[in-house]
Amino acid sequence: MPCSQAPYTVPDLQSLDVHTGFMQQALLLAQRAGEQGEVPVGAVLVRGDRVLGEGYNQCIEKHDPTAHAEINALRAGALNIGNYRLADTTLYVTVEPCMMCLGAIIHSRVGHVVFAAAEPKAGALVSRPMVQRDQFNHFPQVTAGPLAQPCGQLMSDFFATRRRQQRDLKLAAASIGKDINEQ
Ligand SMILES: [Zn+2]
Repeated sequence: MPCSQAPYTVPDLQSLDVHTGFMQQALLLAQRAGEQGEVPVGAVLVRGDRVLGEGYNQCIEKHDPTAHAEINALRAGALNIGNYRLADTTLYVTVEPCMMCLGAIIHSRVGHVVFAAAEPKAGALVSRPMVQRDQFNHFPQVTAGPLAQPCGQLMSDFFATRRRQQRDLKLAAASIGKDINEQ
């Protein structure tokens, strides 16, 4: 199969430096989301070397199921330039985008998506692609991999902590029930 048909590219060394710098910024945003109890995903929208918008998951804070990092970064960027079309931009995101965010990326004409960690369950670009590129007039170039390890680790740690907290809550609830029954 020729390379042009591959679902994504792996960056060469020179672009890896640029990608890693912006992904580092996205990772800081992801950490901020995690500190606020949100799923730790961050995104940065860039044109050339200029950051147009930033975002991190804020679904809980905003009571908004669409407030994913990518959507928040696209909104900020579009407001910033006064245009809902985001041609010639690159969206850096710490985790492979979901179906909803891919839709927004396609509609807004983002030129290039660089994601760090693959998302085996919900990733709509390479893990579980639900659309064909040739269905659309526009489809972004996709690059995978810069800072995949720390961005993926942040997600794993977040969900491990959450599972532990839920288990502790269940144990606490069970022990309260026991105390009541013993009285
Ligand atoms: Zn999403």
